[in-house]
Amino acid sequence: MSKLNGAPIDFTTFHNIIDGQPRGSGNIHHGINPSSGKPLWDVPIASQHDLDDAVKAAQRGFETWSKFSWEERQVVIGKMYDEFMKYESELGGIIRLEGGKPMPFCNMEAAGAANVLKFYTTQPPMEDEIISDDANLRLTMRHIPLGVVGAICPWNFPLIIPMNKVGPALLTGSCIIIKPSPFTPYGVLKVVEIMQRFLPPGVLQAVNGDASMGPLMTEHPGIDKISFTGSSATGKRVMASAAKTLKRVTLELGGNSAAIICPDVDPAKIAPKVALGAFYNSGQLCVASKRLYVHRDIYQEMLKALSDVVTGWKTGPSTEDGVMLGPVQNEMQHQIVKGYFEDCASNGYEFAVPGSIEKTDGFVIQPAIVQNPPDSARIVREEQFGPIVPMMVWDTEDDLIARVNDTDTGLGGAVYCADLDRAQRIAHRIEAGTIWINSNEIPRTEAYFCGHKESGLGGEGGRQGLFEYMNTQVTHLYKGDVGKDSKLSDNTNLTLRYIDDSLEEVVTSLRLQLRSHRITGMEGEEREALETDDSRAAANVYVTRRRGFANFAPPLAPASNPSPLFPRHPPLAFSVRGEKSIDDIQTRA
Ligand code: NAD
Repeated sequence: MSKLNGAPIDFTTFHNIIDGQPRGSGNIHHGINPSSGKPLWDVPIASQHDLDDAVKAAQRGFETWSKFSWEERQVVIGKMYDEFMKYESELGGIIRLEGGKPMPFCNMEAAGAANVLKFYTTQPPMEDEIISDDANLRLTMRHIPLGVVGAICPWNFPLIIPMNKVGPALLTGSCIIIKPSPFTPYGVLKVVEIMQRFLPPGVLQAVNGDASMGPLMTEHPGIDKISFTGSSATGKRVMASAAKTLKRVTLELGGNSAAIICPDVDPAKIAPKVALGAFYNSGQLCVASKRLYVHRDIYQEMLKALSDVVTGWKTGPSTEDGVMLGPVQNEMQHQIVKGYFEDCASNGYEFAVPGSIEKTDGFVIQPAIVQNPPDSARIVREEQFGPIVPMMVWDTEDDLIARVNDTDTGLGGAVYCADLDRAQRIAHRIEAGTIWINSNEIPRTEAYFCGHKESGLGGEGGRQGLFEYMNTQVTHLYKGDVGKDSKLSDNTNLTLRYIDDSLEEVVTSLRLQLRSHRITGMEGEEREALETDDSRAAANVYVTRRRGFANFAPPLAPASNPSPLFPRHPPLAFSVRGEKSIDDIQTRA
């Protein structure tokens, strides 16, 4: 078992976790605290060699882990949840320093990430599905563990996004290697370290890397699936690279979601939600409202209510008390958002809330609302991923929908409307994976989350998300005899389970067919038994003949389907199940 098993947890040193062991590197980097601009702890950069070792360990781990039962895996995931909760505040403290969220939101994220694991302890197993079953053929579909999953993660939710991948991968029997964003490696490396005590080596690993690690993973022939969350631009590179080995991919990508505000709402009531939808985590939420469309009748009132909420918030370093909006996470993002401020200013767009991009020690940006810029403005057309949001006017529903859908992305959206029928009608016209009605955008673990258009491929979450982590296999089981000896003794143990017909009906049908010579090759005592009035004896005979199925000619197939291999559904609808005697025949009502 792992060296980490039961060892005390040190929240100031960080390692890659490979094959159940902590591993350092001669190559070190460090994240930057976005509140102060100061470097954080050293963290090792994994090499190609480290990744190769992790993949081999995962393949070995898969041999063990995939053979755990569903319930056994749930017990382990339950322990992981308990342990996560034990260290909730320490983990929250780490992500405050690396990610820049104010402490209450860090605690929320840590608890939320743990709860993702808990959700997977409640999911019933994936049962095999009998697609069809008749006298001739049983078609069964089952979902089987996939193999080795590579999880490539962004920086905006450094705990919850990796757990969205760990939960379903582990439950369904795969092994997973997490690559955190190099901006926020600390929290998740620590989680993976802590969880080693519950898992066989190689089942859950983490490799922190530089810019080369993502491509190394997407190209690695030993990785069977990439689950990627990040920008659409990188997602396209991931897909192109994964195509070389035809890996499965799930892509959770960027968006430019719209919030639609209808004229029948009370601006004062919804302004706090709309503000959260647009500015929570300083706008660094994939599914945030990045464009606001407000009906002309209430535009001014809504603008005032929203501005009041946003200017009432404290924005600053997340190390200060009472901060609602912390800094953006990194300098690159600060530069990107600065570009939107400058573009709006240089084009003369009006700012209802001016915001500020004055450089502080960290990457704090005061939030801004841009008043009715044109649809062609960069701030409307692109994903800003920061605390500057455009608010446009709309008049008619058709025009509104055309403008909302005029984007290559389709991640989410929100509709605020007192008339719930209208709200749903509008929601259904939005080309996006998730729509919230009368709420800001809060993804839920039990709900499948997916992007349309360039916002992604596949999805995660909910029961539906489990299928993304499994291979599907269908078996076509033909029941005809292929054995050397098709003559069975009378006490052969097979069970008939009648699907539709009673025993008597089955035997009557057999007799009719015997008389019309549709059953051949049944001679002597067997034929006599079938001709007697004793249904049970006849059934017994039929059971003994069961493996000589080729002798049974079902009713003639219709002219439209003359194939003898695919006759019309035979009248004898039963299946052979297990090893029971004829006395155990169960008739289904
Ligand atoms: P990013 O695309 O720059 O990076 C994401 C991850 O990909 C990082 O770990 C990075 O190191 C890695 N990476 C970079 N180049 C790679 C390559 N060529 N091959 C493989 N991996 C590579 O994204 P980001 O800046 O970290 O995150 C912000 C973006 O993520 C935004 O667009 C946001 O909307 C999106 N996002 C989407 C979701 C979602 O669920 N749809 C959730 C969070 C964030």
